[in-house]
Amino acid sequence: MNITIDSHSGFCWGVVRTVVIAEESLKQFEKVYVLGHIIHNPKEIQRLEDKGLETISAEDFPRIADEARILGILPKVLIRAHGEPPETYRKALELGIEIIDATCPVVTKLQERVRKFHDQGYQIVIFGKKDHAEVLGVRGVCNDQCIVVLTVEDALSSVNLDSKTVLFSQTTMDRPTFVLIKEVLQARIKDLIVDTMEGIATEFHAKDTICGQVSGREDMLRKYASDHDCILFVAGKASSNGKVLYDVCKEVNSRTYFIEDISEIQSDWFNGLNSIGITGATSTPQWYMNHVKEHLSKFAGHISSN
Ligand code: SF4
Repeated sequence: MNITIDSHSGFCWGVVRTVVIAEESLKQFEKVYVLGHIIHNPKEIQRLEDKGLETISAEDFPRIADEARILGILPKVLIRAHGEPPETYRKALELGIEIIDATCPVVTKLQERVRKFHDQGYQIVIFGKKDHAEVLGVRGVCNDQCIVVLTVEDALSSVNLDSKTVLFSQTTMDRPTFVLIKEVLQARIKDLIVDTMEGIATEFHAKDTICGQVSGREDMLRKYASDHDCILFVAGKASSNGKVLYDVCKEVNSRTYFIEDISEIQSDWFNGLNSIGITGATSTPQWYMNHVKEHLSKFAGHISSN
């Protein structure tokens, strides 16, 4: 039995950056809070919480501000890679909370572009999940004056086809659906602009704001999944990017199994197989995939050196 870990899996650079900022802050300050789970992966959350990171919600701001005042320290709140709406920064400032901003630069850029087009009077359409943390941040920068769509049907029923319009994507959505929505709107709205990460494009130069760390992986992942008899996809169940990448594997290899924890692995998944591939989302820590590989050795004759 050959068992490998996908060399392209593991944290994306935006998540690596956030975790590094969290770890550095934990070394430097007595107490560090993070607004919402730092990452959609319970294993990594636990590892950082064991080092002293405390997960809070915005409702906890007054409490932590009071507690810090009593202790005579300045409360520090880390903003995770998904980013936050401007309201969060305003509230923190009012309460004397210091923000450690670990928003992924790709998300910051998306927020800036949404703000710019909103200020210019465009109808903003976002392909994404309405209540996803990143989308909440993006909605905040345009005062929630935007339309969030998940499907072509959503777009057709909610977008005003007579307005000049700009279409964006949540950074972790799937490209094929984005392209479908773009084409449907492009055919119906005269002034549609699809924003690129490099600059403003015309409708004849359509790109999107899906992160290259997600979309760039899809082709490599398809190949990796088809090169193995079975795929163990390791990710937190709340990971949006995990769901997208799992579907990519499942499409080309029906023996793809989603696990969050090694306790979910069933030995009969591997009967009669020669190779197992382990891969994961951009929020899946490398150390946990190594752990899965070690665990699988119980069911396999040998582990490859990959
Ligand atoms: S997937 Fe892309 S946008 Fe999201 S945190 Fe990673 S680098 Fe940033």
